[in-house]
Amino acid sequence: MADIIQLLPDHVANQIAAGEVVQRPASVVKELLENAIDAGADTIKLIIKDGGKALIQVVDNGKGMSETDARLSFERHATSKIKSAEDLFSLNTKGFRGEALASIAAIAHVELHTKTEDDEVGTQLKIEGSKIISQEISVTPKGTSLCVKNLFFNIPARRNFLKSNQVEFRHITDEFHRVALAHPSIQFNFYNNGSEIFNLPCSNYRQRIVNIFGSKTNEKLVPADEETQVVKISGFITKPEYSKKSRGEQFFFVNNRFIKSPYLHHAVVSAFEGLIKSENHPGYFLYLDVDPSTIDINIHPTKTEIKFDDEHTLYALLRSTIKHALGQFNVVPSIDFDQDPNLDTPYNYQNKSAEQPNVVVDAGFNPFATDKPIDKTSSGSNANSFSVPKFEKPNTKGWENLYVGLESNVGKDSDFSSISFESDVITGSIFDEQREPIDAVATTFQLRRKYIVTTIKSGMVVIDQSRAHQRVLYENFLKNITVKEAVSQQLLFPLQLSFSKADVLIISEIKDSLQTLGFAFDKIEEEHVEITGVPLLVPESEVGMVLDQLISDYQMDVETDSFSQSDIVSKTLSKTLAVKTGEQLDSESQLALVNNLFACKEFKVSPFNKPIYITITSDDIDKKFL
Ligand code: ADP
Ligand code: MG
Repeated sequence: MADIIQLLPDHVANQIAAGEVVQRPASVVKELLENAIDAGADTIKLIIKDGGKALIQVVDNGKGMSETDARLSFERHATSKIKSAEDLFSLNTKGFRGEALASIAAIAHVELHTKTEDDEVGTQLKIEGSKIISQEISVTPKGTSLCVKNLFFNIPARRNFLKSNQVEFRHITDEFHRVALAHPSIQFNFYNNGSEIFNLPCSNYRQRIVNIFGSKTNEKLVPADEETQVVKISGFITKPEYSKKSRGEQFFFVNNRFIKSPYLHHAVVSAFEGLIKSENHPGYFLYLDVDPSTIDINIHPTKTEIKFDDEHTLYALLRSTIKHALGQFNVVPSIDFDQDPNLDTPYNYQNKSAEQPNVVVDAGFNPFATDKPIDKTSSGSNANSFSVPKFEKPNTKGWENLYVGLESNVGKDSDFSSISFESDVITGSIFDEQREPIDAVATTFQLRRKYIVTTIKSGMVVIDQSRAHQRVLYENFLKNITVKEAVSQQLLFPLQLSFSKADVLIISEIKDSLQTLGFAFDKIEEEHVEITGVPLLVPESEVGMVLDQLISDYQMDVETDSFSQSDIVSKTLSKTLAVKTGEQLDSESQLALVNNLFACKEFKVSPFNKPIYITITSDDIDKKFL
């Protein structure tokens, strides 16, 4: 057989390498920023257009490159940063693999301007898909400017795979944050489509964090410092009361390189144990300095995962440092689950006497009773088989929130049966068609403060209370958004909330959906949002938390293709506001929830596609007794 193995041409090899290094515009941003830092720059500008798809440019005032180096820098495995494999164990630079520029030049249109201190004139180089188009003398200041246009121009599949400009912009912002947080002594400017997003002057770590995440951040930070022979730990954690439902700001830097480490993350989270609710996440900005010879950065092409020689010791040290920080700043004693209102679960209705439901209930009410015998041939008759307690007066807080949506939908005098009840077929599937009146007192009970159990002719239904309420709220919010009839509650005193610039951008993006839900904004500025009205279902005290959650869910969810703003907003609100496991519900609330659930269009699964209830038939039970 003839020989069939060939060496791949360089440009093909580069394209393949690019697949590892360059996943999206944000990867290019990371590599270029890191090169600028390695070049010793103290001022770095990042300019992007259309989420980095049209343009990514990084301009630095670092040491620049000679004419020959400029040419060589685009060769694969060309680096000035290491000379031998041993150097890998004493790394002080971000880069060392020598493949970033070669990879980027293989899949984009690249233009380089660079000049060293000593040279009179600089070099200009144009490369498209690994091919050098031109090399000329260039009059340019000391430093390097690298312009990357039309990323993935020669790999349409990769280009099509890119997400919307907004999503790519967000990934770029994330990378920018990571680099800027690691290097507060460097001045950074970031421009997106011609407008300045960040202007970060040279500062210290704390100021850098505050400059990026907004002035409100300052009061949230608690310093965490420790110096041992193995590691020097410095940085900040956020006070427990500022922990968020979303993951939020969690950063580890090792020798000023951002890294991901689920193991170290666990160490931090475990130090917070008992201080924050289990579903909340602490924020942290932690800088670890270790001897470069004790880590291996070479295990991942994007260099965000590293291997530590002695992970266990690091874990223990980190955990105790965080615990110490929490204790030293008197954070721990002020945390008392019974007293600290910041930590009170907002849904803990049973302890809030002022917020007791104010619902008048018809004692003889039975959700499954029929007003008249069911006429199996009439499609509308099933609707009458449900009724709902009437309201004395609308109240905006507490458990009766469950009813609020319904009330605004059906009007004060109408009862539940008058809203279109599309569950004829479906009710048939859960409830026996010939429903018998059941004793109202025995209709529902709560199991382990998690499930509502209710009887039906054929047996019983066990309903997950939290998922059921999520479903009810979700459909209600979606409806409000589509028909635009949400009830807004005007605030006597406008709420001033602070966010980071990036978060404010997201709020402006989803503003329309929020307004149709009943939010009213007066001002949306750089770092502040002024709210003058909130939806009836959202207590004023929870507006900040709800918006935080919305921002983070929106960031996560725009990743998916089935992206729809109103859907995300409705999902988040329903998740945040629904009753939770562990909450005690009185029998009226239980009944109302059951009714409202089965009035939903889709009552079998929660908005997050989890089953809401199970049925256990009498036959199933009988079988157990055989
Ligand atoms: P690495 O950073 O791993 O060495 P790169 O492909 O990113 O590999 O860069 C190749 C080389 O080009 C670097 O080692 C460096 O010498 C040079 N270089 C790249 N960017 C710059 C810059 N902004 N300023 C000065 N030199 C640079
Ligand atoms: Mg590099």
